[in-house]
Amino acid sequence: MQRTPLIAANWKMNGSAALAQQLTVTLATLSLDTTTVVVCPPATLLTRFNTPGNFALGGQTLSHESSGAYTGEISAELLQEAGASYVIVGHSERRMLNFESDELIAAKLKQAVSSGLTPILCVGESLQQRQQEKTQQVIARQLDAVYASQPELLLKSVIAYEPIWAIGTGESATPQQAQATHAFIRQHLAQYDAQAAETVKLLYGGSVNADNCAALFQQADIDGALVGGASLKPAEFAQICLAVT
Ligand code: PEP
Repeated sequence: MQRTPLIAANWKMNGSAALAQQLTVTLATLSLDTTTVVVCPPATLLTRFNTPGNFALGGQTLSHESSGAYTGEISAELLQEAGASYVIVGHSERRMLNFESDELIAAKLKQAVSSGLTPILCVGESLQQRQQEKTQQVIARQLDAVYASQPELLLKSVIAYEPIWAIGTGESATPQQAQATHAFIRQHLAQYDAQAAETVKLLYGGSVNADNCAALFQQADIDGALVGGASLKPAEFAQICLAVT
């Protein structure tokens, strides 16, 4: 199965209008014919990129509601108006720091798809869960919470496997560890839609950098990356985008 690669940048609560300009200029020099690049800056910076460029924009979260009295939240429609066509859903930092439940994440993913945004659903286990050999159990629960009752959303999703112990630690999963979990995810998703499980893009995230990305991208079920820290360095992020083709 031929899947075209996707590299997403998660700036988290970092960056600036100046960095948005720098990244736009750097990415403009790349020929990204078969690779989709998605930059997810803080929402206030979405309009500070020169678009249309050769990359797409995404939000880092969205409300499960369409509009209304939800102070501090941002809707799918507002993200789209600011230029986003993707949105990260269920990042582990939001699951932990903002207490986002599996149920809320399922509602957000549905809201994203029904509004025309492509969700990048993040799943992944903690270090303790891995040590207790619960990786597959945790990921199955996270996937089931979203797709068991709404399997039609799989076809419209991108999924990122992000082991929590690898995020921002400098300790990436090995290519073999990542591939094993990606293969499990694809196999698990087949129960919902066998064809969509083959075509869905599975990104790896967790301390991806210019040095370790090539070996990760060689794995059969790794279709790209969700990049945090290294996406704040335009030259390094460009190297990662080029390594996936
Ligand atoms: C992330 O936050 O999604 C991430 C993968 O971060 P980092 O690349 O810095 O580990």
